[in-house]
Amino acid sequence: MKNQYPKQFDFIAINRKLDITYTKTDLKHVKLLPTPSQLAVLGNIDDWETVRKKLIQYLKQTAMLHFEPWLFSLSKQINLPIKSLRVRYMTSRWGSCDREGNICLNTELLFLPAPLAQHIMLHEICHTKYMSHGPRFWGLLAKVDPNCVRNKRWLRVLEIEAHKKSVA
Ligand SMILES: [Zn+2]
Repeated sequence: MKNQYPKQFDFIAINRKLDITYTKTDLKHVKLLPTPSQLAVLGNIDDWETVRKKLIQYLKQTAMLHFEPWLFSLSKQINLPIKSLRVRYMTSRWGSCDREGNICLNTELLFLPAPLAQHIMLHEICHTKYMSHGPRFWGLLAKVDPNCVRNKRWLRVLEIEAHKKSVA
């Protein structure tokens, strides 16, 4: 989480923007009340660590809800089966894929333009066929993502600007 007490989540990838409000109440814990355009954080909001945990939990739920059908439909379209999706809040990588086809995606994909989120998903799905980043891997990715070169460059620019993450 880049800022403490973020005022907004702009989920560009899924075209959804939420204003976040914080209200201190007598609750001992922290509670999140999401509506279509707002996320209300209630309770012991002075406890940033707990608020942060709740916000990350919310990012994971939202990412899972939207990325799971997206990823599986891509996998079907390009005929490269995958096994499972896990969503994590990570600081160093956009995603990963193991030999069994278990894919892990960063919640930060929510904040990327949709073509880039999709580019990362396709990248990870292609690892089910080739684990390493060799010429055959890039050939396959270019075939399933016709804007591969443009997307790679675009992602690189965003990584340099903000995140310093990389595609693994
Ligand atoms: Zn990779």
